[in-house]
Amino acid sequence: MRAQPEASHFIDGAYVEDPAGAALDVVYSATGETIARLHSATPAIIDSAVKSGRRAQREWAALAPVERGRVLRRAADIIRARNRELSELETLDTGKPIQETLVADATSGADCLEFFGGIATTINGETIPLGRDWAYTRREALGLCVGIGAWNYPTQIACWKAAPALACGNAMIFKPSEVTPLCALKVAEILIEAGAPKGLFNVVQGFGDVGAALVEHPLVDKVSLTGSVPTGAKVYAAAAKGIKHVTMELGGKSPLIVFDDADVENAISGAMLGNFYSSGQICSNGTRVFVHKAIKERFLERLGERTRTIVIGDPMDEATQMGPLVSHDHREKVAAYLEAGTRDGARLVVGGSTLSLPGLETGAYVEPTIFADVSDDMTIAREEIFGPVMCVLDFTDEEDVVERANGTEFGLSAAVYTSDLERAHRVIGKLAAGTCWINAYNLTPVEMPFGGVKRSGVGRENARAAVDFYTQVKSVYVAMGPQETPY
Ligand code: NDP
Repeated sequence: MRAQPEASHFIDGAYVEDPAGAALDVVYSATGETIARLHSATPAIIDSAVKSGRRAQREWAALAPVERGRVLRRAADIIRARNRELSELETLDTGKPIQETLVADATSGADCLEFFGGIATTINGETIPLGRDWAYTRREALGLCVGIGAWNYPTQIACWKAAPALACGNAMIFKPSEVTPLCALKVAEILIEAGAPKGLFNVVQGFGDVGAALVEHPLVDKVSLTGSVPTGAKVYAAAAKGIKHVTMELGGKSPLIVFDDADVENAISGAMLGNFYSSGQICSNGTRVFVHKAIKERFLERLGERTRTIVIGDPMDEATQMGPLVSHDHREKVAAYLEAGTRDGARLVVGGSTLSLPGLETGAYVEPTIFADVSDDMTIAREEIFGPVMCVLDFTDEEDVVERANGTEFGLSAAVYTSDLERAHRVIGKLAAGTCWINAYNLTPVEMPFGGVKRSGVGRENARAAVDFYTQVKSVYVAMGPQETPY
């Protein structure tokens, strides 16, 4: 299987290569096969991406918003028309099953482009009456933005960053994760086909050092990172040196609270979705499942039953519900957490091991795993695992569970399952999380802001809220008479 792109980088409307950059092999994690070889960006590549981005931004910002919006909406249509091909590439890039990538990746990117294409015409300032005089504000583009992506949703992350940035009149240079470099190149190709000026969305490949060079570049105005908290801290600090704008979408260890009056079958669906989709490699996952003691054993029994039926296999087979992890390195990390769970005394309900599937023996598979009787201080309850590992904890008291749910440095997401309307809103109001659900999990429509509090992040993606993070306000005072002065 090969997925070799024409070249490593996409700059100024064309594929470009600089073989002097360090080699970057792309591995299909279902088989361990190398499917492409790319090169990390050299300083010359970074420079040309910055120059072309700045040039394109001036041209783009001068267009009428309706024209900018049209380009984004056209790109959304092209993505939808090419969904099958883009989904197959996403599966090769990440190992996620085609059953998922057909509905959750390119399509989510298309929704985002369509949404921001639609609101491009509504990004306005305000008028402020001041008696005789008045003032107005303009919402202006920031300039050249850098997007840095994680490896779990390479197409979606590229679109979630590019669409609002471009709608607001910015240009963007995107650096995908070195683990999944292929999909963002397609987004760049499609934006050109949709009529974007050359250089408006450039893609440069590389390891963390390329990301760092982009963040530090004096001609870059903003950085939007999706990644882990430690990387976020480094990127935020580097951006601060240049007083640059930031959006930080970082990790989580989110609580999913199931009260004893919840629809148990529905809560199990949410817990499975929020732990096993994308092999558990989702930042907003509800990895600490707090279940009321009165329903705990019933919950665990049925959860175990349903988890054992998950179809694990070849990601290209549409019947497969769970594929491998993104890489063999990542599987090692997840396997260490499986060991830690058992060592710390959690009760293993399902799974607990790496997997060798017939015909896919070299794939990076692990079993969907459920630990019960997990306590708050166990490593598996405190650290982000980013694999299909669910921790079930129990509780009896509402106030106590809220305090424990909030007892983490993270604050990305949270959910409550209950049939008591008042309790649902009361508890959500007390949870320290940026993105919450009631009787649902991990639904992230583009119309709804997405992001975290505490160490899970700064800023919001999606919805109108994202506009605040890709524009700056210029205030203009208009005198309607002579200047007043004491001199
Ligand atoms: P990392 O933090 O390891 O990397 C994120 C990106 O930053 C990669 O492109 C990486 O490049 C780059 N990078 C690394 N070091 C630097 C640096 N010093 N300066 C600039 N860029 C750098 O995250 P992962 O890719 O492992 O993704 C998993 C993490 O992402 C999890 O913590 C997850 O929770 C989080 N995440 C958050 C989401 C959210 O929206 N809140 C959504 C999805 C994931 P390279 O890969 O080459 O090292």
